[in-house]
Amino acid sequence: MSLKGKHALVTGSTSGIGLGIAEALAREGVNLVINGFGEASSIEALRARLSHTHGVDVIYSSADMSRADDIARMMEAVVEQTGGIDILVNNAGIQHVAPVEEFPVERWDAILAINLSSAFHTTKAALPVMKQRGWGRIINVASAHGLVASPFKSAYVAAKHGIMGFTKTVALECAQQGVTVNAICPGYVLTPLVEKQIPDTAKARGISEDEVKRNVLLAAQPTKRFVAIEEVAAITLFLCSDGASSITGSHIAAEGGWTAQ
Ligand code: NAD
Repeated sequence: MSLKGKHALVTGSTSGIGLGIAEALAREGVNLVINGFGEASSIEALRARLSHTHGVDVIYSSADMSRADDIARMMEAVVEQTGGIDILVNNAGIQHVAPVEEFPVERWDAILAINLSSAFHTTKAALPVMKQRGWGRIINVASAHGLVASPFKSAYVAAKHGIMGFTKTVALECAQQGVTVNAICPGYVLTPLVEKQIPDTAKARGISEDEVKRNVLLAAQPTKRFVAIEEVAAITLFLCSDGASSITGSHIAAEGGWTAQ
């Protein structure tokens, strides 16, 4: 079945992986709701570019994924404007790197809210229409850190392991209604999220930023290269395809062999 004319919401799609996923869906003729932070004029330029280049409707929501009330308002508006989402990509995420004894409570709460709870709020609101239509795709952008841990990332690893459990649970709840729920577990992708954590990791470990890239980030990734955004987007399209209809409650890891070790 072609994806043309379907509606997708991609949270955190003004940058990095989310933007790559949004672009790949638009290329298939999927109408979009994009979301995330950034300068208003650049976001409007991005919205217009996606719409004109791919001939699809693109709506922007500025909802803050750390706030349940903001998400509820966004989901209500989305149902009103689109009739309901067919494809939900829970992608928004942040990171903070610090030893657990020094981890700021406010960062812990923000990471759990954005990287985990936001997916609960969006899924809760999007699922009824998907079930009613007998077709839907929920894709949670987790991480290799949903499968294994690294030091100094307690909140992120906890949230990403949490989203793996959430993925499996929701998959079971809609398994007979044509709705699949899966996670993607990328290894390191060179996006602003990763670039921002390099100085903190260098500080936490007392090493240079180059050493962080070589000896920390890519140390666990046997391919010794960053995963491309396009690779994560391609997995998303596959999970939306008919060929992936029996894949649910599962995950696809694109971590260059990291978790094979
Ligand atoms: P990024 O920083 O490039 O993009 C994050 C996006 O989320 C941006 O659009 C940002 O505006 C948005 N965002 C942040 N806080 C938000 C909030 N409160 N409300 C709404 N939007 C918000 O990061 P990325 O690397 O593209 O990460 C995207 C997802 O991929 C995250 O869930 C991340 O954990 C996951 N991931 C990233 C990597 C990597 O190496 N980059 C690896 C595995 C998983």
